[in-house]
Amino acid sequence: MKPRKLVILGTGGTIAGQAALASDNIGYTAAQVGIEQLLATIPALAASGPVISEQVSQIDSKDMGFDVWAQLAARVHHFLADDDVHGIVITHGTDTLEETAFFLQSVCQPDKPVVLTCAMRPVTALAPDGPQNLMDAVAVARHPGACGVVAVCAGTVHSALDVQKVHPYKLDAFSSGDAGPIGYVEEGRLRLLRNWPVALAGKRDIAIENIASWPRVEIVMNYAGASALMVEALVGQGVRGLVVAGTGNGTVHEALQAGLLHAQAAGVRIVRSTRCVDGRVLPLPGNAMADSQGLSPVKARIALMLELVAQDARISTTGQA
Ligand code: ASP
Repeated sequence: MKPRKLVILGTGGTIAGQAALASDNIGYTAAQVGIEQLLATIPALAASGPVISEQVSQIDSKDMGFDVWAQLAARVHHFLADDDVHGIVITHGTDTLEETAFFLQSVCQPDKPVVLTCAMRPVTALAPDGPQNLMDAVAVARHPGACGVVAVCAGTVHSALDVQKVHPYKLDAFSSGDAGPIGYVEEGRLRLLRNWPVALAGKRDIAIENIASWPRVEIVMNYAGASALMVEALVGQGVRGLVVAGTGNGTVHEALQAGLLHAQAAGVRIVRSTRCVDGRVLPLPGNAMADSQGLSPVKARIALMLELVAQDARISTTGQA
């Protein structure tokens, strides 16, 4: 039987970055090398089976936004629908990788593997980590039974639901927190530890390409001396939702809490998450604000935006929320 194709989509990041000096691991410009050129530097990759590549964007992922997400989701949908395609690998910057992974898992809920990978050092480094990460990502994408959106970095496979960047410059910059990784790639072989990411709440039927403007949802943080000032300013700007990155078990300073409850009473959706990297907010009876269901603040923001998009679509077709 003919081996099925793997699609590699390039979006930029450090994995495509260049520095003036080989000894410089941090003073580089991200998103300089095209995906084809990048793949050409890894001959072993072509030898692993048929691959096609496409450049979807060429950006530093700190600048990631809705336009690129919409384009990326459209290409992912397109290639997943092709029976000849076994899976997709996406090269991405590390800074917002966890957000793109969660977004794609939410809107595509793929039955095939969609593997995001990255690098902490540019192409020009003495010992770049991108080529090995790409080889590992390809091994995961070709693994029989692989499905859902995952991230591969430093030999570790993380679920889109749990992955977080936790270090600014180490090669092993990601963690799945107390959920733990899905597995490890060991010399090109995947050792699977737990299940692939599952659908969150059934298939989402959001036509991403039809979204003219995304609902504005912002994140505010709790800290010593927090006040209602930010909330009032954001509500004044017409924000539709706020995620609060609370302290500990989603606790919020009384002054900030007053501002959030006031906004909630005025119709702004409020979700309470935690600044803590591990664990999740455990709700108590009588909590006045919804919790983030275990999602980090940045992922809770995406979930709330998608909920508002779905709600708007329902209202425009049925007249009811
Ligand atoms: N700023 C870069 C980016 O996110 C960092 C990286 O890729 O490691 O694109």
